[in-house]
Amino acid sequence: MIPFDEARVFVLDRCPPPVSERVALRGVRGLVAAEAVTTAESVPPFANTAMDGFAVRAADTVGAPVDLAVIGTLAAGMVADRDVGPGEAMRIMTGAPMPDGADAVVMVERTTVSVDGNRVAVEVEVPVGNHVRGVGEDLRPGQEVFAAGTVLGPAHIGVLASIGCRTVTVYQRLRVGVLSTGDELVEGTPAPGQIRDSNRDALLALVEELGVTGIDLGLVPDDEEAIEAAVREGVASCDAVLTSGGVSMGDFDYVKTVLDRIGDMRWMQVAIKPAKPLAFGLVDGVPVFGLPGNPVSSMVSFELFARPALRSMLGHGRIDRPRVMAVADGPLERRADGKVHFVRVVVDYLDGAYTVASAGGQGSHQLSAMAGADGLAVLPDGVGIPDGGDVEVILLR
Ligand code: AMP
Ligand code: MG
Repeated sequence: MIPFDEARVFVLDRCPPPVSERVALRGVRGLVAAEAVTTAESVPPFANTAMDGFAVRAADTVGAPVDLAVIGTLAAGMVADRDVGPGEAMRIMTGAPMPDGADAVVMVERTTVSVDGNRVAVEVEVPVGNHVRGVGEDLRPGQEVFAAGTVLGPAHIGVLASIGCRTVTVYQRLRVGVLSTGDELVEGTPAPGQIRDSNRDALLALVEELGVTGIDLGLVPDDEEAIEAAVREGVASCDAVLTSGGVSMGDFDYVKTVLDRIGDMRWMQVAIKPAKPLAFGLVDGVPVFGLPGNPVSSMVSFELFARPALRSMLGHGRIDRPRVMAVADGPLERRADGKVHFVRVVVDYLDGAYTVASAGGQGSHQLSAMAGADGLAVLPDGVGIPDGGDVEVILLR
């Protein structure tokens, strides 16, 4: 067996670097900016009002209440056709540009308009700049808006739209193919001895959670030719391929055989539980992850190896889930076996501390505990963690 860190470094070292491309703004959510973005424009582009009310000269409100002449109405999208002079006020709506002459806005709630609409009583004294949003208060021309490496979320996309940036240089969204192997697996109703393929759906969902395009490469029997054909199809059309099953010690575990023959592959026995076997290699330069078949093992193996690798290929600076220290709520028992155990746990945050409790059955076939888990508690080799003991946990959500 090799230590977890060695296996992880082996995988990460062999994954290709991220590839940048220019993408339409609508397609960038979740991707990483490959270049810094600077703005040529100011945001806001002009001084405008933050309130519905009256644009006035602040000096005119000294000694309020004061009575001013209403000289017109300015909606958002309009430009004033005259200045606001002394003793005057212009009705103004949120977002409308400040008329020349005015230097403050009195919100409508602090005013009373005469019956004929020609006069307005201003009840409060306001300072210069009151409710005025200055030009460039958010962004100034020449300013760096986002650094390279920024993960683009909805707010970033809004900012980019606001400065007219309709295409962005990002690291490519990956296409990741997923295939299942196993003679016992079916898509429909299982006959005696058969089970439903669950790994493909779970792995495709994990892949999609990363903001990656998942490609279903199908269900393949334990047959060397069929596995080879499916892997070749996958590497021809995807940036990475995930297989599950066929990497253990069984008589029909052909995935490792095929990857060894057609690729540059290493078959590893990693000192972890679950997910001890891992086949990883490059086929035509494309990373192929031969994940173990047990449903929990394939997901944990994805978490520990494929997820960080794919995140590095997506250009993320932070490739790992956060790890925090937690207090065991109930003992987390294990036996010494030379492996690090990743125990599926429910994580809580109570009175300033994380707590973890077992999420249920810890067998590598007991996927329901994986579904109920928010974290993987990291149990070093030994006898486990007593009730109330400190334990490191990988936060899955
Ligand atoms: P293997 O790694 O191929 O030896 O499979 C280990 C265990 O995982 C066996 O019990 C398989 O039936 C099960 N298994 C393998 N692939 C899948 C899958 N795609 N969905 C559900 N169970 C699977
Ligand atoms: Mg199998």
